[in-house]
Amino acid sequence: TKFILVSGGVVSGIGKGVIASSTGLLLKTTGLKVTAIKIDPYMNIDAGTMAPTEHGEVYVLNDGGEVDLDLGNYERYLDVTLSRDNNITTGKIYKHVIEKERRGDYLGKTVQIVPHITNAIQDWIERVSKIPVDDTGEEPDVCIIELGGTVGDIESAPFVEAMRQFQFRVKHENFALIHVSMVPDMHGEQKTKPTQTTIHQLRGLGLLPDIIACRLIVPVALQPATKAKISMFCHVGEDQVIGVHDVSSVYHVPLLLESQGIITYLQKRLSLPMGDQLPKEM
Ligand code: ADP
Repeated sequence: TKFILVSGGVVSGIGKGVIASSTGLLLKTTGLKVTAIKIDPYMNIDAGTMAPTEHGEVYVLNDGGEVDLDLGNYERYLDVTLSRDNNITTGKIYKHVIEKERRGDYLGKTVQIVPHITNAIQDWIERVSKIPVDDTGEEPDVCIIELGGTVGDIESAPFVEAMRQFQFRVKHENFALIHVSMVPDMHGEQKTKPTQTTIHQLRGLGLLPDIIACRLIVPVALQPATKAKISMFCHVGEDQVIGVHDVSSVYHVPLLLESQGIITYLQKRLSLPMGDQLPKEM
């Protein structure tokens, strides 16, 4: 299985979920089986006990799991059926580790965030990434992991550290990272400093971006000069900088990503089968 982590910086609610589902959808169109895991770094076990005014609508899965609405996006974009375990929360991970501790599974060891919580996160992701999500009953080829919140938060720190270790567990050629940043538009001037800062912070935590998705909260495309500047200061190629401006419907986002070569880049980076290498029936 190939893993694509989608993280975010600067501010939350900039469209990480839409970018993650759109990337999954594009990969699916190349004939790959795609699954998704959403990480919500809060202490609640699930969204079922959270007020809709606090958290938005609760999405109910086929197995009765009460989860974040993003799981609904994944089911619709990817035409898959997910289970409650496709939504990881801090609460679920802690509950799992504490139950193991009470059973004595840690054999007298001191139970710590690193390595016990971070290992539990990695084991969970590996296990769930293998669960079939469509009628074929086959293991997915690609697992999109969306990390909620913003990198640098206290809440998401154990997950960021788990992902830092995970890239070595599954090996470089099987793990890619899309980091979603924001590019403020100040009266027509596209500012890159927040992106430079969040990428700097990400690298400091040991995660290297393969794609920087730059959200513009205006209906104006990322300018070539802005792209060049981000490439230069964030130490990535220009083909790794992708602009995602406001569009009239979120269903236009897949084409926006595709037109900037995201699939070609990911196919190369993760050695994914290209169109003509795929089995005929796809
Ligand atoms: P996050 O996962 O970062 O919290 P979401 O993906 O849930 O963000 O998106 C937040 C909101 O922004 C949603 O209501 C979504 O419809 C809207 N949105 C996301 N991307 C775009 C875009 N490119 N153009 C217009 N609206 C968008």
